[in-house]
Amino acid sequence: MTTLVDKSSSTLIKEYAAEIGFDLCGIARARSLDEHRDILTKWAYTGMNGDMTYLGQNIEKRLDPRILFPGAKSIIVTGLNYYTEKKQGGNGIPMISRYAYGANYHDVIREKLNKIRDFIKSIHPEAVGRSYVDSAPLLEKAWGREAGLGWPGKHSILINRKIGSFFFLGVIVINIDFDYDQPAEEDSCGTCTLCIDSCPTGAINNNRTINTRKCLAYLTIESKAPIPVDLAVKSEGRVFGCDKCQEVCPWNKSSKPHKTPEFELPAEVGLMTAENWKNLSRKDYKKLFEESVIGRRTYCRFMDNIEAASV
Ligand code: SF4
Ligand code: SF4
Repeated sequence: MTTLVDKSSSTLIKEYAAEIGFDLCGIARARSLDEHRDILTKWAYTGMNGDMTYLGQNIEKRLDPRILFPGAKSIIVTGLNYYTEKKQGGNGIPMISRYAYGANYHDVIREKLNKIRDFIKSIHPEAVGRSYVDSAPLLEKAWGREAGLGWPGKHSILINRKIGSFFFLGVIVINIDFDYDQPAEEDSCGTCTLCIDSCPTGAINNNRTINTRKCLAYLTIESKAPIPVDLAVKSEGRVFGCDKCQEVCPWNKSSKPHKTPEFELPAEVGLMTAENWKNLSRKDYKKLFEESVIGRRTYCRFMDNIEAASV
C-alpha cells in the first residue's frame, strides 16, 4: 500500500533537503490547478508568451501533473537561493543576470533533487518519482505557492518572507502521499508597485503576469528574433537576463548570499567589457560557457545582445 499518510516522512524529507543545501522545501498534494486555467489560456492567447508557443500548448497537462505523471500523489517543491552581493566589474560592463553567474542551475538542482528522490526511496522502496527543473509542462511557481514557499509578487516571481525572491525552484512529482503544507495564502506586496514602476520596458501586467514580448529576460535569452530597437535602448546594458524588478523589491533588501559554490561568478567573466565580449571567439565563448546557462544562447545571438545593449 503506497498511500499511507506519513508525517515523519515529510519532516525527514525537509530535513534532508536542508542538509544537502536547499533553502526551502514544501510538499503539496497533486491536483489540477483549475484556478489557473483562464489566466494561463488568456495569457497565451493574447501572445504574451512571445515565440515560446509551447507555453500555450498542453494546457491541461500544465495544470494537472497527474496527466504528466500518472499515479502522481505529491509535488515536492524546493527553493535554492542564488543571491549574491558580488556584482560584475562596474559602469559600462555588460550586465548578466545573477541567476546565470555560475554553473548551469538545471544541473546543480537536478542532482540535488535526485538525491532527495533516492532518499525517499530508502524510506519508501515503492516510491517512483521524477525530478524537474524547468524541464516539463509544470506550473512551478503555482506549485511553490501551493507547497507554502511563498506568494507570487506583482512581478510574477515567487517571494518567500525569509529569503526574498532570488531563488531557483525545483520539483519532484512522486507517487507517495505525505503530510502536506498549507498553501501560502498571503499577499505581502500590499500597495507597493516598485517593480511595475521600475521595469525599464513596462513589461509587467497588472495581473501578476509578464508580457514576455517586452521583458528583457525573454528578449536576451529565449527570443530568437533581434531585440526591437525601441526596447534595446531601454536595456540599460543588460545582455543576459534582467534583475531589475527583483532588485527594487523591498522583500530582497535583506537577502543573504547563497551558499552554493557552483553559483559563483568566475572572476574573468565579471570584468569583461563590451570590447572583451566582442573580441571573444566562438571557440572561447563555447569553452567559457559550456557549463553555464549562458551557453544555451548561441554565440551569434549573444553577440547580437552585446550589440543591442550598446545602441
Ligand atoms: S525582468 Fe526586467 S524587463 Fe522583465 S519584467 Fe522584470 S524588470 Fe521588467
Ligand atoms: S516590488 Fe513591491 S509590488 Fe513588486 S513584488 Fe516586490 S513587494 Fe510586490
